[in-house]
Amino acid sequence: MRYFNEPAETMPVSRIRQMQSEKLVKQVQHVYEHCAPYRKKMDEKGVKPEDIHGIEDLHKLPFISKDDLREEYPRGFLAVPQKDCVRIQSTSGTTGRRVVAFYTQHDVDLWEECCARAIVAAGGTNEDVVQVSYGYGLFTGGPGLNGGSHKLGCLTLPMSSGNTDRQIQFMMDLGATILCCTPSYAAYLGESLKERGIKPEENPLKVGIFGAEPWTEEMRRSIEETLGIKAYDIYGLTETSGPGVSFECQEQQGMHINEDHFIAEIIDPETGEVLPEGSKGELVFTSLDKEAFPLLRYRTRDICILSRKKCSCGRTFIRMTKPMGRSDDMLIIRGVNVFPSQIETVLLKEGYSPNYQIVVDREKNNDTFDILVEMDEETFSDTVSNITAREKALVAAMRAMLGIGPAVHLVAPHTIQRSEGKAVRVIDKRKLVTDSQWKG
Ligand code: ADP
Ligand code: ZN
Repeated sequence: MRYFNEPAETMPVSRIRQMQSEKLVKQVQHVYEHCAPYRKKMDEKGVKPEDIHGIEDLHKLPFISKDDLREEYPRGFLAVPQKDCVRIQSTSGTTGRRVVAFYTQHDVDLWEECCARAIVAAGGTNEDVVQVSYGYGLFTGGPGLNGGSHKLGCLTLPMSSGNTDRQIQFMMDLGATILCCTPSYAAYLGESLKERGIKPEENPLKVGIFGAEPWTEEMRRSIEETLGIKAYDIYGLTETSGPGVSFECQEQQGMHINEDHFIAEIIDPETGEVLPEGSKGELVFTSLDKEAFPLLRYRTRDICILSRKKCSCGRTFIRMTKPMGRSDDMLIIRGVNVFPSQIETVLLKEGYSPNYQIVVDREKNNDTFDILVEMDEETFSDTVSNITAREKALVAAMRAMLGIGPAVHLVAPHTIQRSEGKAVRVIDKRKLVTDSQWKG
C-alpha cells in the first residue's frame, strides 16, 4: 500500500491549483457570511467575497493571527451553528492563552484521513498495531493519530502519555509496530527500555511517527538508534485541525502538505509580503474544507521553506521543511538570537543525551545563560577534572554554534525531568518577571 488516497495524493499540480481555486471561492463566501470577525477584517481591508476568483487573489485577503483567535475566545470564529459541531480540541497553550477549535463530523473525518495518509506514508498498513502515546483529551495528538489509525484499520492502542511501565508492557505484549508520540517522549521510552535491559532489536516497533514539537536531525538519529526504528516527522496545529496537515514520506525530504485541504504560503514575518517558493519565512495556512473553524491566511509563526520539487514517492503535494523553531521560540540572549534547536544539535553531536534544559535570567541588567546537560552513568563516574574539561569543551562548541558562550553544567543522570508531552526546554526567568509585573 503506497497511498491512503491515491487520486488525491498524486493529482497533477494543475489540478491541485484548480481544486484549490474552486474551494477557496466557496470558503471565502462561507466565512464572510457566517463569521463576524472575518467579515470585519475583510471590510476593513475593502475586500468582498466577489473579489476572490481563485488562488491568484489569495493575497488580497487579510491575515489572521493567534491573538485574533484568542480575542474571540471561545466562539467568535465559530462559523456554523454550535448544534452542528461534535467536538472541540484546544491548543497546548505553549505560548499563552488557549484557543478552542470546533469540529463538525465532516471536519473530524477529513482530519482523521490526513492522519491516515501520514501513517501509510510512513509504511503503515492495516496489519500494523499502532501505539498512540500522544496525550488524549484537549490536545490534538492523541485523538488525531487515534482516528487516523482507525481509518486505516490498524489495531489501535490508545495509551495516551505517561505510565511508562504500562507503555512498555503493552508495546511488548501486544506487539506494537508503530509508535506515535512526541519526539521527547520517544527518547524517554527508548531510555526506559534500555534501563530494563531490552535491546533495540528486541522490541516489536518498526516505525515511529513523531511531532508536535521541534526536533533536530540529530535527535531523529538518536531515537532511531535507541528504539531500533525508522522515525518520521508529522506536523500540524490545533487551528488547522491537528497533526497530519503535513507528513513525511519514505523519501524524508520534507513533509508533504495535504494541499487538497490546505493552501500554504510563505511570508516575510516582518512585512507580510508573500515570498517565492524556496524562500525561508513564516508559514501561513488557508483551510479549504473545514466547516466549523475555517482559517483564512492564518499565521502559524512557524519558520520553514516550501518546495515543489518532484518527489520520488509519487505524491504531488508541496513539501515543507521541518519548522526551524517558531518565530516566538527564539531567545534573544545578550542581543544574540538563539534557537533551542541549535543547542540540541550541538549536544547530540557531542554525544550527549537529549535531556537538557536552558535557563535564562537577568542579573544586574545582564543576561545569564545556563545549560544543564545530563551525563550518562559512565561519564558521571569520571574524575572531577575530566568532567570540568568536558564542560569546557561543550562551552567552546556552543560558542562556535551560537556566537555566545553559555555556562554549561553537567548534571547527574535522571536529574532533569522527563517529558510525557511537549518538552519544556527553556526556562526564561526574564519573561516571568515581566509577566508578573504586567499582572501585578
Ligand atoms: P501550541 O501552539 O499551544 O503549542 P499546538 O498543540 O496546536 O498548540 O501546537 C502546534 C505547534 O507545535 C506548531 O505551530 C509548531 O510550532 C509545533 N509543531 C507541531 N508539529 C511539529 C513538528 N513536527 N516539528 C516542529 N514543530 C512542530
Ligand atoms: Zn514524497
